[in-house]
Amino acid sequence: MPHPTLEQERLDALRALRILGSTPEPHLDAVCRIAAELFAVPIVLVLLVDETRIWFKARWGVEGEGIDREGAFCDLTIQGQAGIPLVIPDLLGDPRSADSPLVVGQPRARFYAGVPLALRSGLNLGTFCIMDRTPRPDFGARETRLLGELAVIVEAHLRLHEARVTGETDAARRLMAEGALRQSEQRFRLLAETSTDVIIWSDLDTTRRYVSPAIRTVLGYEPDELVGTKPLDFVHPEDAEAYGLVLDDLTRARIDQASTCQRYRRKDGAWVTMEVSQSLARDPVTNSPTGYVTSLRDITERKAVEDALRLSEERLALALNSGSDGLWDWDVVTGEVKLSDHWASMLAYDRSEIVPDISSWYTLIHPDDVEHSRRTLADHFDGRTAAFECEYRLRAKGGHYIWILARGKVVGRTADGVPLRVVGTHIDITRRKTDEQRIAHLALHDPLTDLPNRTLFWERLTDEIRHATAHATRFAVLTCDLDGFKGINDGFGHPAGDLLLQTVAARLLAVVRNVDTVARLGGDEFAIILSRIRHAHDAGTMATRIIEAVNRPMAFNGHTMSVGASVGIAFGTGDTHDAVALFRQSDAALYQAKAAGKNTYRFHNPSAETARAVPGSLKSEMREAMKRGDFQLLYQPIVELETGTIAGFEALMRWEHPLRGEIAPSEFIPLAEESGLIIPLGAWVLKEACRQAASWPAPLKIAVNVSAIQFQQISMEETVLRALAGSGLPPHRLELEITETILMQKTEAVTRTIRRLRDIGVRIALDDFGTGYSSLSYLHQFDIDTVKIDRSFVVAMTSPRTVTIMRAIVALAKNLGARVTVEGVETRDQLDLVRAEGCTEVQGYFFSPPLPAEGLVRLIATGPSRRAA
Ligand code: C2E
Ligand code: CA
Ligand code: CA
Repeated sequence: MPHPTLEQERLDALRALRILGSTPEPHLDAVCRIAAELFAVPIVLVLLVDETRIWFKARWGVEGEGIDREGAFCDLTIQGQAGIPLVIPDLLGDPRSADSPLVVGQPRARFYAGVPLALRSGLNLGTFCIMDRTPRPDFGARETRLLGELAVIVEAHLRLHEARVTGETDAARRLMAEGALRQSEQRFRLLAETSTDVIIWSDLDTTRRYVSPAIRTVLGYEPDELVGTKPLDFVHPEDAEAYGLVLDDLTRARIDQASTCQRYRRKDGAWVTMEVSQSLARDPVTNSPTGYVTSLRDITERKAVEDALRLSEERLALALNSGSDGLWDWDVVTGEVKLSDHWASMLAYDRSEIVPDISSWYTLIHPDDVEHSRRTLADHFDGRTAAFECEYRLRAKGGHYIWILARGKVVGRTADGVPLRVVGTHIDITRRKTDEQRIAHLALHDPLTDLPNRTLFWERLTDEIRHATAHATRFAVLTCDLDGFKGINDGFGHPAGDLLLQTVAARLLAVVRNVDTVARLGGDEFAIILSRIRHAHDAGTMATRIIEAVNRPMAFNGHTMSVGASVGIAFGTGDTHDAVALFRQSDAALYQAKAAGKNTYRFHNPSAETARAVPGSLKSEMREAMKRGDFQLLYQPIVELETGTIAGFEALMRWEHPLRGEIAPSEFIPLAEESGLIIPLGAWVLKEACRQAASWPAPLKIAVNVSAIQFQQISMEETVLRALAGSGLPPHRLELEITETILMQKTEAVTRTIRRLRDIGVRIALDDFGTGYSSLSYLHQFDIDTVKIDRSFVVAMTSPRTVTIMRAIVALAKNLGARVTVEGVETRDQLDLVRAEGCTEVQGYFFSPPLPAEGLVRLIATGPSRRAA
């Protein structure tokens, strides 16, 4: 039984402390955790003993807020002397505790050690105790002492709490300073002495005050030898400056934590690389820094492995590029750049003419490319990219620019990651670039007149609308048809027709301003965008001049030909948003001009516009059509050139409309994409095509078109897997045809989807190559199995320029292990040309149009050779 007066005083003190209902103390929880680890016990408690309850102020390994005081042996502890622990190695074997509910019930404790917690001498408010579920006869004097030391920390907290409660802020500070110091020192030592890392406590002037015993094994010094020394005296001279800066930041409290890596001198004189982490210690009350703790770990071995790795990468880079590429080696610190002979000769310089310095290198980069290259480099320096890779132009000696693909890698960094050295290569990619530019030009221009084609026209029109919206400008769209063109074509022949179109193109260009666009949309149909005009009548004036220009006679083979022109005009303002609607308006106006007797122009007049079927209705019918099963798949054979056999089929969708008849995909796919219906529709195509293909003999493949909208779907991969699983078709017999638009999104998601699909064995074809931006670099960037060259290429193959480009594409594709399929081969001549260029597969009406599934079995059996490929 506790002494009554003392007990009353104790309870008064406890109440005055107002601690029982106070919030949990993370510091005390931490102490519990440390104790649990240090003594390998499952239960640690900070207890406060109230009249009838024992409260858990902090706990580890038990739940709840407290227990009844009745029968708790902690009472024994608080009756002892402050700081003197009570240890009961086996609770069951001790009459004082054998019947305690803590022993016979949960947590079935078998071992107990507790230290009374005193606010002032004699006033034991509670205990700091540990328990185990097995007896601990091994708990000796050392452990008991350590437990006492930890209890000091807990006590310091109680006192601090008291100081806070009684409002004695000054006392709190003082006590805290004392308590915190003792606390941190105690805790610190406990951890430090048991750690295999070297732990050091230093003052803010970096003087070491405490060095843990692990220093003996790690660096060979006695701990006492290093007390009073400073770290920089032991750090390798080359590492000292950078490390000094970090220490400066830390001790001036600009940073609270630092991780670095330095070489330290061991006692035997050898240098060892150490990983160093440091944390600033702050006074818990004033928050001002009091010193810092360092932990040192020997990573010499790990470092050696890393270095070896770096070296081998460096060598690899050199070996890889010892061929025709230019090499460079840049010392980031000094700015010096070492360049190979080939580098200089690539740019036609003599070595002596090049200042071996990074800044002079930058002066050679095309001004438009500087920013991009700097950004790409920064990305690599900052670790956002694994390697530096960038395309830019460099000025050669003659003053012209050549395109370079620069690749490089940081091969040395300081401890805190600042790049020291970069090694890399330069490859001349001028050819590829010009090819790409030519292809891009071809894709956007009409081969006959070299005017922008339909695609570029839409692009320019959309730009113009955007500009008008942003700057409240006005513009006009003119559509222009030649009157009497058909007569000339029929009468004088195609060459005359071609010449006429070229002449008209030149005259139109001569009439308009530089900022305007003249496009040939097809046949004898031209369109003109008059950019940023002031009044509608300006467009009328222009139309008159256009008609006059076209009207002027032209000579052909001693004959004189002449045609007329009809022009329709639609006027655009900042309120115009719909390019298609605007174009329709000018088209309607053109129709009125023609109806008015030709060789004249008309402005768009809304009331005259006839109601016509809007695509909206088709769009709304599509859902029903899908339900009814009006969509159908046709299959067009893909023929392998070398063997003349069928390699597989491309699935092409058709819509069998009950009233309109067959609708081409070029009409309904864009609508399905707009409405989102392409997703279920595309899933159906995949499922149906795979099902069909599974019935064909292996290794016949099925090529399925996938729209960009489908590809953006997260479920895309799953849709493909389902189609494969449902049909039993092996993945390598499925080829997905994707377009450049998909690759241009270049998002992580796209890259990942492509990679995953390829990982499961599905093949990827790049469709319609030559119609978009046709960047050959996509072939490098993505793993593409097949490149499908667009039909427009085959049509244009009469020009030697196109043939050259085709050759480049084939060579590049083959180099990368991709097959080349040419689409839209209609004649034997085309087939021969394509074959000569080394394409692997062809597809086109020459062999077969797309066919219904039923006819395929026979075709597969007989082969396509009936047309004598
Ligand atoms: P594409 O993928 O380039 O398909 C080739 C197109 O060229 C097909 O037109 C085909 O019938 C046509 N073609 C084949 N050989 C010749 C030839 O020798 N001469 C000529 N002039 N044309 C030939 P189709 O079937 O009208 O398809 C047009 C486009 O619609 C396709 O172009 C494709 O982009 C899209 N498409 C078709 N089916 C699907 C589909 O299931 N899903 C998606 N997302 N798109 C599809
Ligand atoms: Ca296709
Ligand atoms: Ca295609």
